[in-house]
Amino acid sequence: MRDLAEMFRPDGLLAEHLPGFTHRHAQEEMAQLVWDALGARRHLAIEAGTGIGKTFAYLVPVLLSGKRAVISTGTRTLQDQLYDRDLPMLGAAIGRPVDVALLKGRNNYLCWHRLDLAQQERTRGDSFQAKLADIAAWARSDSSGDLTELADLAEDDALRSTITSTADNCLGTQCAFFDDCFVLEARRRAQSADVVIVNHHLLLADLVLKDAGFGELLPGADAVIVDEAHQLPEIAQQFFGVSVGSRELQRLARDVLAEARAAGLAQELEPLTDALVKTTADSRLAAGEHTGRLPWSDCPAELRQAVLAWQERLQALGSRLEAARKIGPGLQRCWERCQDGANRLRTLQEGDPRGLRWVELSPRGLAVHWTPLDTGLELGQRIEAHGGTWIFASATLAVGDDFSLFLDRVGVPEPLTQVLPSPFNYAENSRLYLPQGLPQPNESDYVARVLSTVWPLVEASGGGAFLLFTSYRALHEAQRLLNAVPLPGPLLVQGEGPRTELLQRFRAAGDAVLLGTSSFWQGVDVRGSALRMVIIDKLPFASPGDPLIRARIERIRSEGGDPFNQFQLPQAVLALKQGVGRLIRDFDDRGMVVLCDPRLRTRSYGRVFLGALPPMPLVEDAEEALAFAAGLLPQFESQDVASVP
Ligand code: SF4
Repeated sequence: MRDLAEMFRPDGLLAEHLPGFTHRHAQEEMAQLVWDALGARRHLAIEAGTGIGKTFAYLVPVLLSGKRAVISTGTRTLQDQLYDRDLPMLGAAIGRPVDVALLKGRNNYLCWHRLDLAQQERTRGDSFQAKLADIAAWARSDSSGDLTELADLAEDDALRSTITSTADNCLGTQCAFFDDCFVLEARRRAQSADVVIVNHHLLLADLVLKDAGFGELLPGADAVIVDEAHQLPEIAQQFFGVSVGSRELQRLARDVLAEARAAGLAQELEPLTDALVKTTADSRLAAGEHTGRLPWSDCPAELRQAVLAWQERLQALGSRLEAARKIGPGLQRCWERCQDGANRLRTLQEGDPRGLRWVELSPRGLAVHWTPLDTGLELGQRIEAHGGTWIFASATLAVGDDFSLFLDRVGVPEPLTQVLPSPFNYAENSRLYLPQGLPQPNESDYVARVLSTVWPLVEASGGGAFLLFTSYRALHEAQRLLNAVPLPGPLLVQGEGPRTELLQRFRAAGDAVLLGTSSFWQGVDVRGSALRMVIIDKLPFASPGDPLIRARIERIRSEGGDPFNQFQLPQAVLALKQGVGRLIRDFDDRGMVVLCDPRLRTRSYGRVFLGALPPMPLVEDAEEALAFAAGLLPQFESQDVASVP
């Protein structure tokens, strides 16, 4: 049996098998912590700074322990990297292949039943049918049913939802295609593998057993590794909540109609499905111009009435399906979905006081939710019921060495905890600049003043900058202002293309300026000189205008707690760490973080934020900041500094 030292030491097996491997003390230390936790069967939460190499630090002890493990990641990219590269390489290093299964969400696998229904829909035209025939031929060949094998089927192709199943419309054991089902086959493979790679949604589906039709997904794992664990509580909140949305009901209506056509009942059922679709459209109209999130109690009375009508329509459709459901499992499943939807609407009307009822309004639809305000109790119980040792790893779990915000939300009692700082040379390669003289963030000219302050730096570094905002409003204002000035390179704006495409363009350009909010604060990895400056407009306190945030604040206050120090401040500190963490992604990366919010100096909590960041030398002098920015890409020609209107 190999041991950890043999793997990690500078001339060890990883160095032998992994090109470019460099020994890192913190990585070895983390591996030892994981190893010890697995041996002692103690849960472990570990904050591993960027660059530690946390993936290998948990994979190696898991493989050496011989325990059956589930590894849950936040992104498909990391899933693919583990499956295609890291685990085969580690198998070679330890001298025995590892039996690994990669289990993706249902929407990645062809569903034979849905394909069959679509092929019966003769109304969709020849090219549609020809496409389906090609897909059927591919699926019948030696295929795993994973749609990523179909190079010409784009990720956002609308056809995907037609030919894949959801937990709602899957017929499970009643399905005529059950024996050939790709989803089932992938799960069978997972059940017999030593290591199963999943995403957080599948992990939670397994914990909650919400994915009907197949039973437990991941039985008997001795170890569960949750990478990017900071995302787990948020996703758990969705899983433990109850929702009904207009899109779901429209999908149900479409599925009923497809089944009805196949059964020769379309004429009879179509008026009922039309009525269901119409009532969802009526409720969106009743909401008027509103978009965003609203507490149920603040919704206009017409909107609440319109949503109540959903239940009547579902019941009417369900009653008719009750008579038809014996015809086949497809109609049976549709009937069950009507029942389930009506039950959830009843639950939503009751409004359990442990959570919040709220409505999410998008330009074309709406969903009604009940969300628990505290996930800790339920998630903790489910983790204990699942069993095994749980390892939570992320670059942002703690404020200082305090993990309480995260641990309260996952509900794991008394786990081991450890913070391991990044091994990067921040002192040499980075600076943290706090500009002076900016107004308070609530001033009307704040965005313009931020831009005129930071723009000389962006010019000096020849672009290569992320400007991260805490709101779309600020982002769009910045975009408007920057449209009027010469730019060092392309201006990329969140929302003007898929995130991966914007990042590709950013990397390729080398001198681009990217304006981002929400999704660019985390999970973005731009190594090398393409990204050399991260500018953050405000401290990322969650908006108290968000009904869930407000309800949480009120809940803590009503329990005699201190919402600012227990929730708002640590949440914002962790969010800022995520944003700042975009800059230095590798040992040779150099760059500057600019934090514009003057509250960092003027408020006592500023120290908490600054103390939680990597040890970047502080710059307060504008000339010094400009000189450092200019040195970030010396091969770029210096340019005139343009002023921002
Ligand atoms: S069992 Fe479910 S996923 Fe599999 S083919 Fe049937 S409906 Fe599709």
